[in-house]
Amino acid sequence: MLGGGQLGGFFAEAALRMGYKVAVWDPSETAPAKRFATHKFNTPFNDANTLNEFVSTVDAVSLEWENIPVELVESIQSHKPTRPSSKSLGLAQNRIKEKQFLRDNGFPVSEYQVISRPSDLVKVVQELPWIVKTATMGYDGHGQWRINTEQERDHMSSQITGEGPWVAERVVPFEMELSVVVVQGADGTCITYPATENKHENGILRMSMCPARIDPSTELAAQNLAKEVIKSIGDPGVFCVELFLVNPDQILVNEIAPRPHNSGHHTIDSFSISQYEHQVRALCGLSISQPIRIGSTVLLNVLGDEATTLSRVETTDLILKTGRARIYMYGKESVRPGRKMGHIIFSGDDIEVLEKEASEALVVLSVR
Ligand code: ATP
Ligand code: MG
Repeated sequence: MLGGGQLGGFFAEAALRMGYKVAVWDPSETAPAKRFATHKFNTPFNDANTLNEFVSTVDAVSLEWENIPVELVESIQSHKPTRPSSKSLGLAQNRIKEKQFLRDNGFPVSEYQVISRPSDLVKVVQELPWIVKTATMGYDGHGQWRINTEQERDHMSSQITGEGPWVAERVVPFEMELSVVVVQGADGTCITYPATENKHENGILRMSMCPARIDPSTELAAQNLAKEVIKSIGDPGVFCVELFLVNPDQILVNEIAPRPHNSGHHTIDSFSISQYEHQVRALCGLSISQPIRIGSTVLLNVLGDEATTLSRVETTDLILKTGRARIYMYGKESVRPGRKMGHIIFSGDDIEVLEKEASEALVVLSVR
């Protein structure tokens, strides 16, 4: 596994359960996935000796982070099966390439412009609001600036950081954010999980509901759109397609993750096959099967300091006592504001009940 975050950790757990051993390469010695790793590589991704050792240790390679260097994946894939390959990684780690790919293949995206200097905003951005995003290295809303007024637009140049170019994107007045996990096998089999309904706070996923509260035809349209996007890339692996539901007749593609997704954590609890088991299956050339839904879930992310609150016995117990919650903590050593430290899955039948319980848990977690 290239990358050692929580997504890699859940992959490693699934792989271990199925009888595999997992090697994790991540520069951080304490990366969450290393808790489940048989072989640990702690060097930077450009270390040539580690590359040789890694390649000779493993039989197949997957990734869990979009900022793994494309050149590294290119070197690895000429020796060992690598799923997904540098093709989808290259698209997903650069917003300009990603949007261009989507647009060229006829998939609906929000109105956008590429700008090479922040001062270009004044020319490009007319009807507001817009969002400016770095082309690379953005995550959880980092590297994004929202422009609501003309005044903000005209003063934005000094606030925008990082290296250009940037993507300036019109703010989509969506009804709901959705995401769909898609699994593609090396034989071309392609399945989707039902869409999740996602609620973000400051660009970070806060809560995710499955099933989404949309009608069956919108559900079908979302799953089909996501599937077509991944089929057009044609790379085996697990992917997530983030969508903006503007109205039942218009769904836009926001972005593609070339890996399992935060909004798909619940598949461990609520489907016969999780997104992580499917990542193992896709990597090892096993069957890609339509998973069976066991129940409804609401996911609540535990962010930053909320982890400290949750670590108190009385808080944990308050959340656990209803019998619907399962806590997953990632074992991250340092707490940073907004950092994803863990998540809680609320399982049952009625999304409304689960959402209420998750909201109550959030209030408990927010008390300092
Ligand atoms: P991720 O954590 O998913 O990698 P990211 O930082 O790469 O996030 P986006 O997914 O592009 O960035 O944006 C994060 C969130 O910001 C979106 O899920 C959405 O809530 C909001 N957002 C981004 N772009 C737009 C837009 N054009 N219109 C409305 N909201 C937007
Ligand atoms: Mg996103």
